[in-house]
Amino acid sequence: MPVAVDMLSVYVALGVAAALSVSAVILGALTAPAAVTAGVMLTAAAVFWSFTGLTIYVSLFAISVIVGAIGRKKRKERTERLHKRAGARTVVQVLANGLPALLMMAVWFFTGYGAFKVAAAAALAEGFSDSAAGDVGVLSNGKTVSVLNFKPLKRGLSGGISVAGCVAMTIASAVAAAVPAIFGEYAAAGFGIAAGAGILGCMADSVMGATLQALYRCSECGAETERRECCGKKTELIRGFSRLDNDAVNGIAGCIAALAGLAAAFIIKY
Ligand SMILES: [Zn+2]
Repeated sequence: MPVAVDMLSVYVALGVAAALSVSAVILGALTAPAAVTAGVMLTAAAVFWSFTGLTIYVSLFAISVIVGAIGRKKRKERTERLHKRAGARTVVQVLANGLPALLMMAVWFFTGYGAFKVAAAAALAEGFSDSAAGDVGVLSNGKTVSVLNFKPLKRGLSGGISVAGCVAMTIASAVAAAVPAIFGEYAAAGFGIAAGAGILGCMADSVMGATLQALYRCSECGAETERRECCGKKTELIRGFSRLDNDAVNGIAGCIAALAGLAAAFIIKY
């Protein structure tokens, strides 16, 4: 049985989506097409999950815009040679972070099966905690180590973890999982599962980032990078699969979080 659409939440979502999308472009957090995509997703979240869907996206989106705006210049300097894209997030990045959760919300909407609400929160917890961890971690002056062997790693490269990044990840996951709980969508167990699955997905993201994700080396300056070109030349693939970039890994990690949340919610017969 599909859940009824709360039209008021959809109208509010349209207004909020317009305001947020414009601010995100002005603040340089999103490119214009990415802002439109995020606005459409926000409205769809309200269709599927009423004010809960709207609030969970808005609060996480607001946090990521604020975190992204803090220290933007320093972050840009530190990541521009490492990543394909530094600065404003693109359509693919918005979809990778938000689509797995939206799919879970859609299944909840069409089936009314509560475990999918936990899965949606888990997927969002993963997407936003991963960006928060990266955004905060790259600014911190603490040590960055590999998630695989804890050996020092260049700050900003995928697969690296830092204390500041882990704190940001945990807070972001807890916020994402808390919103539906505040709206009475699930109880303490649902909150625990969603936050835990979000963190698990985030760790999976780091492990994939350190193993399967494409890493290149520049033959001119010798730098390890996630970019396909450096110093005006093509870089060489030294690890992982060329098709598996950071966005793909993010999308897969969101699905892992959703499935882990779904499985745990199902096992305890949530
Ligand atoms: Zn180079």
